[in-house]
Amino acid sequence: MALRHAGACRVCGVELPAKTTAVYDFTAKNVLCLACRDSVSPAPQQVTTTAPAEGSRRQQDRRVGDRRQAASTTEASRGGSVLQWDS
Ligand SMILES: [Zn+2]
Repeated sequence: MALRHAGACRVCGVELPAKTTAVYDFTAKNVLCLACRDSVSPAPQQVTTTAPAEGSRRQQDRRVGDRRQAASTTEASRGGSVLQWDS
């Protein structure tokens, strides 16, 4: 999301001018650059005061989808089983 106000990344301290695409952490009231967002878990933008459950569920669904896609791709290319991939 684009920042409304300029700020600095709370992790690496990089300058984040207004309108820069970055992550605003509503809970901590500070910002993260995209690089640091990718390196922290869970992603701050998923943890909101309004709908934390919905956010985490959506993230989980996406992870399952990615996993299924990866598993089917692996299965097709290797002819192996999904269980093998999981273990
Ligand atoms: Zn950063």
